[in-house]
Amino acid sequence: MSYTRSIELFERAQQSIPGGVNSPVRAFKSVGGTPLFIKNAKGAYLYDEDGNQYIDYIASWGPMILGHAYEPVVKAIQEQAVFSTSYGAPTELEIKMAELIKGMVPNLDLIRMVSSGTEACMSAIRVARGYTGKNKIIKFEGCYHGHADSFLVKAGSGVATFNIQTVPGVTAGVTNDTLTCAYNDLQAVERLVAENKNEVAAIIIEPVAGNMGCILPEKGFIEGLRKLCDAENIVLIFDEVMNGFRLAPGGAQEKLGIAADLVTYGKVIGAGMPVGAFGGKRHIMEVVAPLGNVYQAGTLSGNPIAMIAGYTLLNVLNTNPSIYKELDEKTIYLRDGLNEVLKAWGKPYVINQLGSMISIHFSDKPVTDFASAAAANNDLFKKYFHAMLKRSVYLPPSAFESWFLNNALTKEDLDKTIQATKESLKEITE
Ligand SMILES: *Cc1c(COP(=O)(O)O)cnc(C)c1O
Repeated sequence: MSYTRSIELFERAQQSIPGGVNSPVRAFKSVGGTPLFIKNAKGAYLYDEDGNQYIDYIASWGPMILGHAYEPVVKAIQEQAVFSTSYGAPTELEIKMAELIKGMVPNLDLIRMVSSGTEACMSAIRVARGYTGKNKIIKFEGCYHGHADSFLVKAGSGVATFNIQTVPGVTAGVTNDTLTCAYNDLQAVERLVAENKNEVAAIIIEPVAGNMGCILPEKGFIEGLRKLCDAENIVLIFDEVMNGFRLAPGGAQEKLGIAADLVTYGKVIGAGMPVGAFGGKRHIMEVVAPLGNVYQAGTLSGNPIAMIAGYTLLNVLNTNPSIYKELDEKTIYLRDGLNEVLKAWGKPYVINQLGSMISIHFSDKPVTDFASAAAANNDLFKKYFHAMLKRSVYLPPSAFESWFLNNALTKEDLDKTIQATKESLKEITE
């Protein structure tokens, strides 16, 4: 496989873009080597500038749940674009989008569209603070809620990948209001809330974590958070930027059967366009301007091209619930196949999976939180990543990221991935 063009483009990119990329994890820094520059994609496959084809397990970090260049979405964007790409005034399409989401997701009375997951999470905690009149928030080590100042404390995803401890540019004043706990440690959360009596506005969590690899909530953990929040007048925020519309039509709330007070969305909601959203119960969302005084705005919020893309995709997901069953079955097929070859390989590993989220940690104990994810053999993951890439399988370039399956993947693609893993494991331990 030749990477000549990608190598050239990466050189050139670094002359005009910080680190050559517009988002850090794309740089391959943690796995080494040159990031691939992508020319196009279709269905389950990515094609780089050198013409190499890859089976894609990133799916643009989630949005491409039905595969790339999904025809109904492409067509809808084309048809909408001729009517202008933005108006800065309300449209019926935004109402249709809100109504569709309300019909899919439980516990959602009002929803506001924004342009990214970061914006959604940042706005949700502002709403929680405005609603409760309290300042502090609790987040979990290894969870990622976007790059807003308050969240860059023990964050997952790129922050974990690059082992960044404190982020220059974020003031102590801001981080002092962000308290952190280990994921799955309910007692630690209860202690923290007791120590900060009447000061905690919100607990924000990825109900199924995807930014330290895939990590599942243990039985009773989120239920316990729900009880604690009810007892202490704390707003429980589900960050469903990854989980939403991926684990089920109603996201993690539906899959886990637990109600949040506020929910944030991103990724799948925009079908690959820049879209995020936050919403929840009416009595809380009523504080949002212009209804209330918690200010939040966006020139391109509810953008017609972004809305038609998201609306078209969500509509397909809503009217074809069998898609989730197919995705689950494919992911379980992959998990079982990987288990088989990893077991035969004979060294320690953990596979975590729920719905179409899955990841491998090279760990000899269960991976249930950030500490156990970080203790895994992530050097081995780097080697595995490159060995897979060489065999035309594009995994997320970090052990601190979940893989996302898309429904364009065929059984043949999954078999190839399992076979590639078998060969890769042999190669990296020889
Ligand atoms: C990706 C992600 C975000 C940030 O979304 P952006 O659109 O990248 O700003 C927030 N929360 C979670 C759980 C995410 O995975």
